[in-house]
Amino acid sequence: MIRYAYINNQILELFKKLPKLTFPIDISQIIELIPNCKYMSYQRLAKITYSSMKSIIELCESEAGCTHYDINNNRYLILCNENDNEYRQRWTKAHEIGHIICNHTSQSFYCKILDSGFVTFTNKEFESEADYFAATLLCPFPICQELDIQSAEDIQKHFAISPTAAKNQFKKYLEWKQSHKKTAWENDLKKLYRYFNE
Ligand SMILES: [Zn+2]
Repeated sequence: MIRYAYINNQILELFKKLPKLTFPIDISQIIELIPNCKYMSYQRLAKITYSSMKSIIELCESEAGCTHYDINNNRYLILCNENDNEYRQRWTKAHEIGHIICNHTSQSFYCKILDSGFVTFTNKEFESEADYFAATLLCPFPICQELDIQSAEDIQKHFAISPTAAKNQFKKYLEWKQSHKKTAWENDLKKLYRYFNE
């Protein structure tokens, strides 16, 4: 089960802490809001550890990105391959932030913490939650309504996600518009957005 309401509220709390809520979301600003989290590129990690990119990818068990969790100090390091295009990097970072915000590392029953402290999430629900988090952080449906989004191209333009992700998100947005019940969350999010954009 994906904790939709919990994730929505966590995202709203992050947005409230931003100096200004505008889209496309500035992912590095979001990372800065998490006090025990830092960011580093695969390329920089390779350089400072005199390692090859191949070994970094192997260590992270992903070509795109991963999260390093320092258990002793309760600190996170998000790592991302900056060879990827900008859209993919934004999604990867948002996805990794999702794992942190959803507390996937502390529920260690489901995740495998490698000797090196690198965490890979094997549970399918964790991946689904992190993907839902990424989609909603980058492109929240209530903001699609505010912007009067009419197509996948509109989504790509306003939220800077890949054409494939935009197509996906547009389809889900149409379903959401038809079936969702109004919540305090979406009212609060729209109010916050209007405050900065009207
Ligand atoms: Zn993941």
